[in-house]
Amino acid sequence: MVQKSRSHSLFVAAKKHMPGGVSSPVRAFGAVGGEPLFLAKAKGAYIWDVDDNRYIDYVGSWGPAILGHTRDEVVEAIIEAARDGLSFGAPTEAETKLAQEISKAMPQLEKVRFVSSGTEACMSAIRLARAFTSRDKILKFEGNYHGHADSLLAKAGSGLATFGIPTSPGVTKACAKDTLTVPYNKLEAVKEIFEKNPEEIAAVIVEPLAGNCGFVRPVPGFLKGLKALCKQYGALLIVDEVMTGFRVAHGGMQSVESVEGDLTTLGKVIGGGMPLAAYGGRQDIMDRIAPLGDVYQAGTLSGNPLATACGLKTLEILSKPGVYKQLGNLTHKLVNGLIELGKQCSIPIVADSEGGMFGMFFADEPVTDFAGAQASNTGLFAHYFQKMLQKGIYLAPSAYEAGFVSTAHTDKDIEQTLHAAKESLEEIKQENLHLSNK
Ligand SMILES: *Cc1c(COP(=O)(O)O)cnc(C)c1O
Repeated sequence: MVQKSRSHSLFVAAKKHMPGGVSSPVRAFGAVGGEPLFLAKAKGAYIWDVDDNRYIDYVGSWGPAILGHTRDEVVEAIIEAARDGLSFGAPTEAETKLAQEISKAMPQLEKVRFVSSGTEACMSAIRLARAFTSRDKILKFEGNYHGHADSLLAKAGSGLATFGIPTSPGVTKACAKDTLTVPYNKLEAVKEIFEKNPEEIAAVIVEPLAGNCGFVRPVPGFLKGLKALCKQYGALLIVDEVMTGFRVAHGGMQSVESVEGDLTTLGKVIGGGMPLAAYGGRQDIMDRIAPLGDVYQAGTLSGNPLATACGLKTLEILSKPGVYKQLGNLTHKLVNGLIELGKQCSIPIVADSEGGMFGMFFADEPVTDFAGAQASNTGLFAHYFQKMLQKGIYLAPSAYEAGFVSTAHTDKDIEQTLHAAKESLEEIKQENLHLSNK
């Protein structure tokens, strides 16, 4: 039995001083029961909690840790930058280098603006799209998550999906009225909305591979269809690659699907674990941002030198040939193993991956939208999660989250994980937990 006494007492103390004891909701383990682990350190593919238990990590700080944790070259780059100054609030050469590195991998980002979180990136891209088109409404997809800006909280994924919050109180009616939502992967529904609002929609914002309601792949033609509809009706396509950018491929999901958004948002991997995000795209649109244009957006810590150094070193390592192929193969091996185990144990499992991102549902059929994700057996996932944790495997504590493999994971780590999954599924069978309802 894994000992968790220090995590428990730290959680008790944290709850006295912070709502739910956490700085972000899903961390509280509410969806899977039990209490969160308090983490002490991380290296490569592993994390250690404060009770000194070691886990193979598939959360990777929710995506950024693509090279594994605290890789020496990355930590060195941050220390070196720190010696020269923690923050200037003035331009640095490293920002240009990072922007260049991003544009090299994703040429549709002709110009890039740095911010500190994915939330800021998406919120700012929406403001820019509204200004550029002189329109108010935006269209988003159910179960997609674009951060917690007011206009993007309607029917959102991630923590809102985990806790069953359709749209947060505190968002004004006026704001909610301008956000239209349709099911993911339903191009027909998008077409209908455009027909009803032909000159009102400023932008469609989409996760090009949905990762905040589990792992949900776009059906063939979906993204290309969105692009065509946006063009036809004079709306902008904002591709939110905060999770998928530099994660599923060097050029993001847009390179996998051969689609280019007018604007793209990035975060997570591009900061390598430091608070850094960006939005970018067509130069004629980006040049509307102040100081060149009239659309205001700013940030005291934007382009912070430590975050920039960390992101730059991370992208530099990721640009080496073969990185994504190897990462993709390893992730594929994990997913194939899970599918195979589902068959062996007669527990319906669907699983899928792209690059270093994967997901698994306890479901009979492939999941293509949020309703499908909600129909999966999330109760069974909670049992599976706890059993895996007991065996030293750290998964995201919600059925509505994707998983991440890093370049630091080895074949042996994957084999150990599959071994733990086999034992967990066998226990679930023996205890008849697979018969339990959600
Ligand atoms: C994580 C995420 C965000 C929000 O980024 P934060 O840095 O958490 O604010 C936005 N969009 C997508 C697709 C994400 O996965």
